[in-house]
Amino acid sequence: MAVSRIVLLGPPGSGKGTQGKRLAAECGMPQISTGDLLRRAVKAGTELGQMAQRYMNAGQLVPDDVMLGLIREVLANAASSGFILDGFPRTIAQAEGLDVMLVEIVQPVQRALLLDVDGEVLVRRISGRRVCANCGTNQAPAADGTPAAVGTRCPNCGGELIQRDDDREETVRKRLGVYDQQTAPVVAYYAAQRKLARVDGDQPVDDVYAAMLSALSN
Ligand code: AMP
Repeated sequence: MAVSRIVLLGPPGSGKGTQGKRLAAECGMPQISTGDLLRRAVKAGTELGQMAQRYMNAGQLVPDDVMLGLIREVLANAASSGFILDGFPRTIAQAEGLDVMLVEIVQPVQRALLLDVDGEVLVRRISGRRVCANCGTNQAPAADGTPAAVGTRCPNCGGELIQRDDDREETVRKRLGVYDQQTAPVVAYYAAQRKLARVDGDQPVDDVYAAMLSALSN
């Protein structure tokens, strides 16, 4: 695959994390998920984590200057081997800041992939999502929509399945509103740079993945 610097865009629950992990594993590139980085900081109780947690639990975005500082640190180690950015940039200020950083190292973003999914589908999908407290793997609801019971075991590692605080329905609706207001303009930003490819994210996961690969090879 010729493209090695990729931004994954899409509303919360559109499948960025799942698809980004698979793409990273199969293409040998690091997946950089700012949500995962923040959750790790929260778990470790660092200063960043304590500050970020308030915003995350309220379904709001962590301030741009904090996020740009975090991504600058991570990219310093990753940019040369390419990257899949998952959950960043989420505002125009972050997209512009990222462009400035990457121009400095002559490694511009090559493709922005948008996973397109309708809002009501997402509310059902995210509020039924369970996550392993140990390995972080998402456990989707059963085919009839019934969520896995909280407290049951992760099929991957045997850890406990929990519901993320920010996956509760009212917080999900707030996160979708934040996405419409602050992150949807980032889609237009990459479209204007002629880097945007749209993928229908409301299909079986393997079909979404195949559509992503095809969008990346065009
Ligand atoms: P995610 O797992 O990507 O949905 O991120 C979970 C939460 O972390 C978001 O709802 C935000 O509060 C915060 N977050 C993650 N990435 C960013 C970002 N690029 N800018 C601001 N906040 C972020």
